[in-house]
Parts: sequence; C-alpha cells; structure tokens
Amino acid sequence: MRRALLTTVLLLLPLTASAQNPPPKQVTNQPTAQDAVHAPKLVEPQLHVSRSGNAVRPRVALTFDACMGQADERILSTLVRERIPATIFVTARWLKKNPQSVAIFLNNLDLFELENHGQNHVPAVDVPVSIYGIAAAGSPEAVRQEVAGGADAMLAAGLAPPRWFRGSTAKYDPSAIRQIREMGYRIAGYSLNGDGGSLLGATVTEKRIAAAKDGDVVLAHINQPTHAAGEGVARALLALKRRGVEFVRLSDVDGMGDDNTTQ
Ligand SMILES: [Zn+2]
Repeated sequence: MRRALLTTVLLLLPLTASAQNPPPKQVTNQPTAQDAVHAPKLVEPQLHVSRSGNAVRPRVALTFDACMGQADERILSTLVRERIPATIFVTARWLKKNPQSVAIFLNNLDLFELENHGQNHVPAVDVPVSIYGIAAAGSPEAVRQEVAGGADAMLAAGLAPPRWFRGSTAKYDPSAIRQIREMGYRIAGYSLNGDGGSLLGATVTEKRIAAAKDGDVVLAHINQPTHAAGEGVARALLALKRRGVEFVRLSDVDGMGDDNTTQ
C-alpha cells in the first residue's frame, strides 16, 4: 500500500512540479484585485419624468449643463425664440464668465429653471479617484464645498436657490449621494445622453435628441459654442417642437431617479 502510494507520488511529481512553477510574475504598478475591493462603486443614475401618456404629446425634460467656458448661442437663442422651457445646470465658474447669458435667463424665468452643477466642476465623489481624467472632489468635505459653493454662486448672481444638483461627469458614489440628499437636493440623473459630452457630430446629436420618448430627461451641453454637437441640438429642438412634445422643467413634474437620488 505504502509502496503503491510512493509510486503514484513519484509518477505525479514532474507534472505537479511544473504546475507549481508558472512563469515568474511581473511586478507592475497596475491596479490589482486587492485595489478593486477598495475602489468606490460609482453609479450614474437614471432620471425620468412622469409620462404624459399621450402618444401625440409626449413629455420631455430638456436639461443642459453649463460646465465652464462660454454659452452656446445657437441653443440659447433657439430656446428663447421658440419659447422652449429647459433646466440649465450652471457652475460657479460658468456664471462668473457669462453674465450676459445669466441676464437672458433672468429675463426669461418663465422658460428657464436654473440648477446647481457645482462650484469648480469636480465630480461629486468623496474618495480620491479620477473620472475621465478629472480628479474627483475626494472627500466628504470637498463634496460639500462643491455643492454649497455652486449654490452660493447662484444666489450671488441673483438666481433662485437651487433644488436639484448634478455633479460633473454625472457619476457619484453612494455615500456622496446620501450626503447631497441630506443637504436638501434631489440629484439629477438623465435618461437620454443627447450629445455625448458635446463630442458627437451634429447629425447624430440631432437624431438622438429628436428621438426622445415620453418621460425622457435629455442631457446635453450649452457651453461649447465651437462644437458641432450644438448645431444638432438646435435642430433637434425644432424637430421636437414640430412633433408636439410637451417640454417640462425638472421642478414642473414628478421625477423618478434610481440609486436613491430622488426618493
Ligand atoms: Zn458638466
């Protein structure tokens, strides 16, 4: 018995030995499975508005981010001329640079709801991570500063106190969502990415937005006047109006967001 076992062990030995000697592991600085355990779970919440239920008059909420830079007159002038209501998310940085556009908003408060896109356009994530190459706020205190600083700048510009917050990149971690909710905000996700961060071409942008469905919350940008996407946005606004869409602002109707962003 013992001898048989020994033979088996000896027979298996070369095989086992080679299996135990895989090629030497390379030492790198790449993230490991261990790191992933500590990385935050980021969410990009969806938001819909209550549907009209009327096939010939679908309800759509247009939301525009004014991250930094300038105002896109192609979009802004179309909204004003066509009397199309929209929700605009502004940062403190954008407000400071665009007083003339802020005056247009203030002169058309029947159209525009202004909401909070933060102070410095840093992602509202409370641990140090980089998202699309943008460093996140990185701590609960910095998240608070990003949100409160955005609201303070809005009040200083003569705008109403914001009730909705949308962070840079529209990504969050769950603890930052809880914190922002505790500050009194609902968090504005979206359901239709209209312009791919303003990087899409005019035609594809127009097609995407013009195809909005009942209850959709469209996200596009109003701060990139040199990008082709804005031309497509302006054309899509006319197409939606022709379709008989009921345009609503986020505070006009009930909004239903996932990841505990509105309930
Ligand atoms: Zn933005």
